[in-house]
Amino acid sequence: MTTVETSPSTDDARVDALIDELLAAHPPQTTPPQEFLGAQFDAGLAWVHFAIGDGGLDLPASLQRHINARLQEAGAPNAWVFNPIGHGMCGPTVEVWGTPAQKQRYLRPLFTGEEVWCQLFSEPTSGSDFAGLSSRGIRDGDEWTVNGQKVWTTLAHRSRWGLLVVRTDPEAVKHAGLTAFVVDMHAPGVEVRPLYQITGEAEFNEVFFTDVKIPDAERLGNPGDGWRVSLTTLMNERVSIGGTTPPKGSGPIADLVDAWQKLPTDRRSAADLDQVMRLWIRAELLRLTNIRASQNRRKGDPGPEGSIGKAAMAELNKDIYSTAVDLLGAEGMLFGPYERKRPDRAMAFDTIQKSFLRSRANSIEGGTTEVMKNILAERVLGLPGDVRVDRDVPWSKVPRN
Ligand SMILES: Cc1cc2nc3c(=O)[nH]c(=O)nc-3n(C[C@H](O)[C@H](O)[C@H](O)COP(=O)(O)OP(=O)(O)OC[C@H]3O[C@@H](n4cnc5c(N)ncnc54)[C@H](O)[C@@H]3O)c2cc1C
Repeated sequence: MTTVETSPSTDDARVDALIDELLAAHPPQTTPPQEFLGAQFDAGLAWVHFAIGDGGLDLPASLQRHINARLQEAGAPNAWVFNPIGHGMCGPTVEVWGTPAQKQRYLRPLFTGEEVWCQLFSEPTSGSDFAGLSSRGIRDGDEWTVNGQKVWTTLAHRSRWGLLVVRTDPEAVKHAGLTAFVVDMHAPGVEVRPLYQITGEAEFNEVFFTDVKIPDAERLGNPGDGWRVSLTTLMNERVSIGGTTPPKGSGPIADLVDAWQKLPTDRRSAADLDQVMRLWIRAELLRLTNIRASQNRRKGDPGPEGSIGKAAMAELNKDIYSTAVDLLGAEGMLFGPYERKRPDRAMAFDTIQKSFLRSRANSIEGGTTEVMKNILAERVLGLPGDVRVDRDVPWSKVPRN
């Protein structure tokens, strides 16, 4: 008689068994969030495509959506909420570029939210043209000395660690002279100042570096690899911001449907209903496109489709909240006390009015919609690129303000 194999034989079954075990041993309703997230990391269910021991199982990234959906359904905490920049961008970058010691040190407390991370890329004169940045890193034996300024640094005021890119070779062409580091945000010479947004909150900051010492062991990649390291971060950023696949009808579109349903019948017009329906269809199209993209994605850097999802999400969110504020009528103009505060969380969309104001930033943060369209045009459609006059010139010879 043939013995029937009853143990999990597919990736899906294996993951499902691990989820069952995790939920049974750590019921989300009674386990403190950090403890649950630590157990999720140890089970390899944090970033399932990461290596075993790094919070993953070396399985296809597309399985993560299933894991997240099951955990969410069971009421488990969401790691992204505690540490959005760390979870979506810095963790994946450390996994690809970090040394074994860096992965061991950083990934678990990053995932549990015990150590918040920030991304120190943009500078006052280098946002879209991030490769043109000016902050300097100079090597001195086993350490580097960093001077310069970063800007728009989300949650820098809460961060323990930062993913920093600086110029280490001004005589190389701009993309070649950059190096990436993990920087201690509590190190002497790091100063974080708030920048207040249209909502009244300072989710982001200016960060000044004055003779900050960084051990060479905290370098990510080789000297000169900074651009390639950054591409890992930026591609993950676009997927993190625009590539999520929430349940059907949830997220911003749920806010719009809710606003419509709360309208008194005498204020409901056929034209408004038509607009709500159009947006609902766009939201569903984006959700399905993201599901397809995530299923196509395999271990490694996500491709340009992350940029497309990011651009589509930004425009959709802005249109959804514009319509929602219109539906509110005069009430849409009322927005709290504009209390100036430095929040613990970024991207908290609580009221429609605040979400309307905050969504304006969606087409700027993580790369502007214009730049996403350039990527789509050049890398997907194969159209001629932008005219670039600085590509073959040493950075030090490029004219700048
Ligand atoms: C809410 C928020 C949070 C952020 N968080 C972070 C963070 O944590 N870390 C970080 O490093 N940065 C962060 N940023 C910065 C963000 O990445 C930059 O704002 C963005 O890349 C644009 O750069 P910029 O602001 O310098 O604008 P610029 O690059 O000066 O662009 C100005 C205008 O020119 C257009 N433009 C520029 N180049 C081109 C081109 N080649 N073709 C067509 N149009 C072009 C742009 O689309 C834009 O409309 C954040 C920004 C926001 C709004």
